[in-house]
Amino acid sequence: MDQPSIDALRAQAVAPRGHFINGAYHFGETGAQMEVLSPIDGQPLTQIADGIAADVDAAVRAARVAFEDGRWSRMSPSTRKNVLLKLADLIEGRALELAVLGVRDNGTEINMALKAEAYSAAATFRYYAEAIDKLYGQVAPTSEDVLGLIHHAPVGVVGAIVPWNFPLMIGSWKIAPALAMGNSVVLKPSETASLSLLKIAELAAEAGVPDGVFNVITGKGAMVGEALALSMDVDIMVFTGSGGTGRRLLEYSARSNLKRCYLELGGKSANIVFSDAPDLAEAAKVSAAGIFRNSGQVCVAGSRLLVQEDIYEDFVTEITRHAQAFRVGDPLDLNSQIGAVHSLPELEANLRFVTQAEAEGAERRTGGDRILTDTGGYYMAPTVMAGVKETDTLFQNEVFGPVLAVTPFKDEAEAIRLANATVYGLAGGVWTANLSRAHRMIAGIRAGVVHVNTYGGADLTVPLGGVGQSGNGHDKSLHALEKYTNLKTAWIKL
Ligand code: NAD
Repeated sequence: MDQPSIDALRAQAVAPRGHFINGAYHFGETGAQMEVLSPIDGQPLTQIADGIAADVDAAVRAARVAFEDGRWSRMSPSTRKNVLLKLADLIEGRALELAVLGVRDNGTEINMALKAEAYSAAATFRYYAEAIDKLYGQVAPTSEDVLGLIHHAPVGVVGAIVPWNFPLMIGSWKIAPALAMGNSVVLKPSETASLSLLKIAELAAEAGVPDGVFNVITGKGAMVGEALALSMDVDIMVFTGSGGTGRRLLEYSARSNLKRCYLELGGKSANIVFSDAPDLAEAAKVSAAGIFRNSGQVCVAGSRLLVQEDIYEDFVTEITRHAQAFRVGDPLDLNSQIGAVHSLPELEANLRFVTQAEAEGAERRTGGDRILTDTGGYYMAPTVMAGVKETDTLFQNEVFGPVLAVTPFKDEAEAIRLANATVYGLAGGVWTANLSRAHRMIAGIRAGVVHVNTYGGADLTVPLGGVGQSGNGHDKSLHALEKYTNLKTAWIKL
């Protein structure tokens, strides 16, 4: 199918969108809507339904009915697989349209949105679809007079809450394995990045996902997110977002039905450069991309750069040069390497971090300002703050913006100590040509993923999850399927 051009897609008006419940759009109980602003120019883009608890109840009811009557949960695995494969094809066929819609909503640069959002979502649905009819239960090693069977039963109704960065990618990491295992889903996207996920619900219906199996509720986190997480009829919650909201989800679970909550939270990941790195120029280039792409709004971003003392000054100069060379601009321009910061409050928070870091003694080597203000959009120059101390706010707190904190270290022991001097444990990076050191660092860094001589880019075949206050679950890979099933034993007397 021929796809319209980016310019044609950006010129299209976006019709107001309701919740997607039981296979159709509804504006909900009150009909209330909230405005969506585009970070590209700060102008209104469209309206979405501003849901209330009654809308969540309606979606959960639809999901429960669908689960119990088996229209999806008891569909044959090979049929379910074919439906999700068709959905993957539909997403791929509309990749540009989905990517542009997402960019207008959240400001990610289009090159990245195409790859990491639209095509990645298609690949995720395909991956979990393919797994459906290849997973077996187990037969326990019992004595001859009994048979112990271990089944992977679907959990029932899955509540999913996702953030505004990479909504399609992160949403698919949850929706695809949940549906693959036969569950029903109620998804709550971020109020500031709902549009592309609503479109996925529409495509899922077109692919043959039965009504009620996949529902999307939009609105404020403190209203619809809370109602979903408090629901007595939601069996598990899967969440990606900030630590503060993750903490609330655990409280909601305790106050309701003790549902399991899988949390994928923030990070303050240390990217560590030793002077024996195989290629320091490459290390600087990749490390710059590892913090600045998508305006630093990447959970695993290498936001703390630890550099060995003997190369510190040269390396800071080099990474500053890369920061200044990025083309920041209209995210729908294929030449832009970095798009917009997601929202004005986020941009203002980023700028406050820079001011605070300077007040605490860090040195601003580049950036730190709002730029392209005449566009009306939310753009920030990639920012390098050098001489950041372990006790500084910028060393300890996640900015979730294009702000790099650089700190020198003496030796391996100090690098590991500094890397782990945070409550987070999402990701890390090590640049060294010494294989033994690389392994010692992998073992020593407290994080869910450690990159060696690269940063970022780990694909669907490997799990992503944090330790410490970065979370307790895993997305991606076959391991993610474990969240969406209950182990069920059949004990049969022969
Ligand atoms: P957020 O916690 O503010 O919001 C996330 C989602 O939770 C949104 O849909 C929001 O509406 C909802 N929400 C807000 N308050 C709620 C409440 N009281 N009850 C229920 N739901 C509520 O996070 P954000 O600003 O959208 O996302 C940025 C954060 O996400 C960063 O900390 C980032 O590191 C993290 N993140 C983590 C990963 C990962 O894989 N670990 C990936 C991407 C982003």
